[in-house]
Amino acid sequence: MKEIDLKKFPDERGYFGEFGGRFVPETLVEPLLRLEEAYKKYKEDESFKEEYNYYLKNYVGRPTPLYFAKNLSKKLKAKIYFKREDLCHTGAHKINNAIGQALLAKYMGKKRLIAETGAGQHGVATATVAALFGFKCTVYMGEEDCKRQKMNVLRMRLLGAEVVPVKVGSKTLKEAINEALRDWVSNPEDSYYLLGSVVGPHPYPMIVRDFQRIIGDEAKKQILEIEGRMPDYLVASVGGGSNSIGLFYPFLEEKVKIIGVEGGGRGLESGFHSASINFRRIGVLHGAKMYLIQDENGNVAPTHSISAGLDYPGVGPEHSFLAKIGRVKYDLATDEVALKGFYALSELEGIIPALESAHAIGYVIEHRDSFPEDEPLIIINLSGRGDKDLGIIYGYLEGENG
Ligand SMILES: *Cc1c(COP(=O)(O)O)cnc(C)c1O
Repeated sequence: MKEIDLKKFPDERGYFGEFGGRFVPETLVEPLLRLEEAYKKYKEDESFKEEYNYYLKNYVGRPTPLYFAKNLSKKLKAKIYFKREDLCHTGAHKINNAIGQALLAKYMGKKRLIAETGAGQHGVATATVAALFGFKCTVYMGEEDCKRQKMNVLRMRLLGAEVVPVKVGSKTLKEAINEALRDWVSNPEDSYYLLGSVVGPHPYPMIVRDFQRIIGDEAKKQILEIEGRMPDYLVASVGGGSNSIGLFYPFLEEKVKIIGVEGGGRGLESGFHSASINFRRIGVLHGAKMYLIQDENGNVAPTHSISAGLDYPGVGPEHSFLAKIGRVKYDLATDEVALKGFYALSELEGIIPALESAHAIGYVIEHRDSFPEDEPLIIINLSGRGDKDLGIIYGYLEGENG
């Protein structure tokens, strides 16, 4: 294979190979161009960088530890480290991006943040930074999701955000995104649209990646300090793809094997999954070209995952590209395998992981034989803590017992 300079993407038109781009209505082109221009400017601005790092350190609690999981390592005859994003303020990696984009909004002179949310995690991160920096905040959330995730609705309201239940269509994330975009089209001057993963039209996949790469930058430094060498493997869960690209990006040019784990639901054949890359069909969703779960007519098809954060029909364009050129391997973990990972980490290490992260853990346990025999050095991204998922686990245990 010809050497490809992986650091030069996206190109000027916002493409990662054939993926990405800016498939949006005319009215959004101008705001997106202005956002790109502002981002390029402030990215190099000393006071912007200083402020971003200040809040990561003093508010989020960075750097997060790279923790050697000695009990799990012993059991698997491997050296396993966890990047502890679960220890970030608000309990997951999403805050890294929310802080970065909220600062960008501040430097751009915006007064209000708009966001969409599925299960509520990104909504909570956005409401948090809105409170911190004194923005007004509106979060669109499907009415069904509001019912399923009452505690996150309460959190957002406590943080001062207005939560707007979306009552059209399937009343879930897809419609919430449409409503958020509609709001932004009507208020492009005073409002900033804060996207939560490496998806959407250019320049969002680039911006979110750059604000999440702190995960990989820290991990690289830490593993060199602790082990004196690069890891053999990186493993992370892939929903839209922000925690995984955050860990992977600084290692793309190193001799490190990289595995992204998608939500396998009840298995690829069952039709109940959210494994976009493994589904192997390309389409356009939310302004970008990517691997996309769809029916025979090209309509977005329903998805399923035990973990709300992985339950998205698309995947970031950069992941789509890395899959296509074979730099990163994308596999999946079923709900059942994720639960194995969830229990294993809880029982062996005293850490209750988010169900999203449990996919990466379960994958390594389930596929131990496909890794080298002799103590492979593996970094797993522990993207979040599991407190938010206890209700789901409770439901499963009730089902098992009753
Ligand atoms: C939202 C979320 C994910 C999935 O989103 P990505 O953009 O793929 O990272 C994974 N883990 C946790 C804890 C989340 O909250």
